[in-house]
Amino acid sequence: MRNLLVLDDDELVGAFVRRLAAEMGYAVRTSTTVEAFRAHFWAQTPDEIVLDLWLGQSDGIEVLRFLSAQGCRARIILLSGTDNRTLDAARAFAENVGLNVGAALSKPVRAAALRGALTPIEAEAAAINAEALAAGIRNGELVLEYQPIITCANGKLSGLEALVRWQRPEGGRVPPDQFIPIAEAEPELMDELTFAIAGHAAQDWHVISKSGFTGHVALNISAQNLRRLDFPERFASLIQERGLPAEQVTLELTETAAMTDPLVSLDVLVRLRLRGFTLAVDDFGTGYSSLSMLRRLPYSELKIDRSFVKDILASHDAMAIVKAVLAMAQNMGLNTVAEGVEDAQILTTLTDAGATCAQGYGISRPLALPKLVEWIGAQAVNDATLASAKTQGRTQPAMPLARSGAGHDGGAGVSNNKHTH
Ligand code: C2E
Ligand code: CA
Ligand code: CA
Repeated sequence: MRNLLVLDDDELVGAFVRRLAAEMGYAVRTSTTVEAFRAHFWAQTPDEIVLDLWLGQSDGIEVLRFLSAQGCRARIILLSGTDNRTLDAARAFAENVGLNVGAALSKPVRAAALRGALTPIEAEAAAINAEALAAGIRNGELVLEYQPIITCANGKLSGLEALVRWQRPEGGRVPPDQFIPIAEAEPELMDELTFAIAGHAAQDWHVISKSGFTGHVALNISAQNLRRLDFPERFASLIQERGLPAEQVTLELTETAAMTDPLVSLDVLVRLRLRGFTLAVDDFGTGYSSLSMLRRLPYSELKIDRSFVKDILASHDAMAIVKAVLAMAQNMGLNTVAEGVEDAQILTTLTDAGATCAQGYGISRPLALPKLVEWIGAQAVNDATLASAKTQGRTQPAMPLARSGAGHDGGAGVSNNKHTH
């Protein structure tokens, strides 16, 4: 039975959550004060926590700090009666201190929303833990999907990001957000995972390069991978032995990753660069960024986080941030990739603002290898049509988005809409 711990100073809300969660099969304990909550927490480790951010006397942030200090691994659902921005900020805070936030809901909370945020008990069939993951890696259960990245100026395919999924034999497909954190907590496992993924990517490269693709394939690297000084040698030889040259590979690292131990990362990153890898800062703008780090470390690409990109049309602040980042990147000679581009208008706006490349569901969802090969083929046909239309003086179809978004779901369906990390 899953244990749910609730903290809300409003007894009515507590009772509402208790009733609904109990119907779903949870063992529920509720508390209206921080003291009671702590006592419950120490008495039995909860699997999930529902936490109201506004608690009258004290506040939810204090509680999040406490949970973080306890190394809490429970899935947390935040509730708040304040504006969305505060809720988002609280969520970001929780994630930055290493907590697992399953959902952030604004009050009044509807039953359907809360039910959706809690984990359905029957979906828990196979445990997701380090042991199972290690076995999964060894049994070859990791699969890669590739998400196209285009050059803004001409809409052409310029790169691919490899994204891992865990395809379990029982039938479940686990999205990376659910198992990468498990590997992050165990350095050896993270190495195993990264090397397994690199091996897959090198294998796939034979098929991808035959399809006519000449750009870079981007692989995600964790901070844990940088802690060993021999990572560059081991990683480079693994992929090169399998026929994927380092010059074709971009390594994506989050800002926070390179900050954990700046000296070690500087050493490792410089040697990766010397071996021919391109280095990109992933999710730029979300971590503990230091602009001096950008100058000091051998990056050549910035990936602007989706949380800014998705809001540029609606939010003046988001647009201002994206513009400032683009201007800075340009001045520093860095390539930019805007992540999470979901529609044509956002792509046009980003292109006008000077983004080099774009990636997002509006261009294509992550695609399994066979779908990717089809996508690359369709793009080549489209380019040829465009070229001949140009020479014959016909008008040029404007958006790459119009063609590519639909029809290529790439089987990524289950994981795609559920999490907005
Ligand atoms: P990320 O590196 O920022 O990858 C981009 C994520 O955003 C992917 O989710 C992608 O499917 C999703 N995405 C792309 N375009 C859009 C869009 O237009 N709208 C929305 N809502 N989402 C979009 P995914 O595949 O679930 O990966 C989540 C995270 O898991 C990645 O974030 C990355 O941090 C991690 N991850 C994935 N593969 C690997 C891996 O091989 N190694 C490591 N260490 N981490 C990985
Ligand atoms: Ca990435
Ligand atoms: Ca990213």
